Amino acid sequence: MTDQTPSSYCVLARKYRPQTFEDLVGQEGLVRVLSHALTHNRFPHALILTGTRGVGKTTTARLVARALNCLSPQTERSHFMSACGTCAACVCGHQERDLDVIEMDAASHTGVDDVRELIEAGRYKPLQATYKVYIIDEVHMLSKSAFNALLKTLEEPPTHLKFIFATTEIHKVPETILSRCMRFDLRRIDENVLASHFAKILEKEKITVDPDALHLIARAADGSARDGLSLLDQALHVCPEGLNVDAVRRMLHLADRTQMMALFQLLVAGQLADALSLFQELFASGVAPLEILSELLSLTHWLSLLKSAPALAEKTLCREEERTQGAALAASLSVPVLARFWQILLKGYQEAKGAPQTQHACEMVLIRLAHVAALPTPVELIDSLQQDPLQNGTPPTIAAPKTPTPQAVPSGFVPPSLKEPPTTPACAPMPESFEDLVSLVTSKDIALGEHVRCDVRPISYEKGRLFFNPGPNAPRLLASKLRASLEEWTGTPWQIEVKDENGTASLAQIQEENRERLLEKALDDPLVKATLDTFPLARIDSLDGAPIMMKKGA
Ligand SMILES: [Zn+2]
Repeated sequence: MTDQTPSSYCVLARKYRPQTFEDLVGQEGLVRVLSHALTHNRFPHALILTGTRGVGKTTTARLVARALNCLSPQTERSHFMSACGTCAACVCGHQERDLDVIEMDAASHTGVDDVRELIEAGRYKPLQATYKVYIIDEVHMLSKSAFNALLKTLEEPPTHLKFIFATTEIHKVPETILSRCMRFDLRRIDENVLASHFAKILEKEKITVDPDALHLIARAADGSARDGLSLLDQALHVCPEGLNVDAVRRMLHLADRTQMMALFQLLVAGQLADALSLFQELFASGVAPLEILSELLSLTHWLSLLKSAPALAEKTLCREEERTQGAALAASLSVPVLARFWQILLKGYQEAKGAPQTQHACEMVLIRLAHVAALPTPVELIDSLQQDPLQNGTPPTIAAPKTPTPQAVPSGFVPPSLKEPPTTPACAPMPESFEDLVSLVTSKDIALGEHVRCDVRPISYEKGRLFFNPGPNAPRLLASKLRASLEEWTGTPWQIEVKDENGTASLAQIQEENRERLLEKALDDPLVKATLDTFPLARIDSLDGAPIMMKKGA
């Protein structure tokens, strides 16, 4: 620490409040435009500065006001035309007794009278400086009539009057006002920029610090230099011996990123018991349960980035160890699984926030995650259904017996012990042929499937369209029932019509004929003949599957 006594200690946010445009961290674009306007004496009558809280709107407004009123000639001022800090006007500003720069907080002065008073005073020339500058903070809070009063002045402003508005909610400012202002969007300051800014300050303060700790503070500052400096101050109070990662993490109630990755890995692997005990360990060490969910959310986001835009993801994490661990984790995950994690975490976070027992709610979210991680994705499901017709409910075909193939296991599948019963995908694929259609219907509705198999004599079939001639046993509303069912299952409109033309035979008939042909062929087989001769009571019992099963008759 420095050798300052506590009484002389000035908080960092105040001590290092920007004094010149050059000091404004991360707002280079804005500074360039402003200094250009100042240099060429083309400064607009009204500026509006917008951005999230803490990005430096008010600070910028004050710097602009001082730069406008600085009496030093351009040649004696800095490159960016900041106020010189030494002329009479600047000294007044420093001592905060500048009578020509008037600040108003619109949050507490929303009424039309406040604005009228301001405008009335604005008619008089500045007392000392070149311009009278009104800084109106949170300008979106003004009432409608207050805005109207302001608008009149903005339409025909006196030359000595300048307005600088600041707002966090630009969309609440009327268009009529906006169109008369030069608008500047103050950017959230990048984490790395903030971290190096803090590093420079600590160097001046002669405080040693772990760069990783600074990154943690920069991340927590969420784009705000002021918030970051307050956190830095707080951290220096907590650990006066010098900043280190663990102390900062404890102070911010942050979970260790590597531990979060370990938790994530356990969840992905479906190792729920280990995941829950790690969660409780983290909780016991003082990490808030919601913070854990929030960290898992940002980890999911980062891993998704790593998969889809690696260059972007590289920027956000600082430690090499985290990077390699993350890359390995991302490689083992698919984008659909990450998307599913994201949805569950986001929903779970909201639920846990409102739950009476946050810890329990968070544990329930983890349980859900571990189960969902084990489920196949819709694509994997469709693949597995297409590769294994038995799962599709197709009756074993007799016409073309095949040797049984081992069940294909889609890549990315997890051990069956972790698997819940597979859910059917939202929409079944469109059947390629009439046989496929029968399979689909049978898999969904056995009774209807039997009618389609036995009582439908197809005239023509193409995807989404079936014309048929009904058999004598066909139910009266078969066509409309079939159409409604198919539309529901496939999510596609179907045209199904009964025609008074001769169709081909029903699938049941064709299958029966095939069976008979196969049986004849089997009976012709010399081996079968010999068997039947030797065992006269034997009969062919089944033609299912590849080998024709021979069984001794009863
Ligand atoms: Zn000056």
